[in-house]
Amino acid sequence: MRSVYFHGNNKSRVFHDQGCRYFNCKNCTELFQNRQEAIQAGFKPCGICKP
Ligand SMILES: [Zn+2]
Repeated sequence: MRSVYFHGNNKSRVFHDQGCRYFNCKNCTELFQNRQEAIQAGFKPCGICKP
């Protein structure tokens, strides 16, 4: 079973990888298993963790 690799911020529409300090941010309620899934959902990669 695969775990969740990315969290997407519902407000800023930015997603983060597991190592990012914003991974568990307050608005990071969208869960993605891969990068493509996040991008297709309209999210952009975080500028800090660069997922
Ligand atoms: Zn990040």
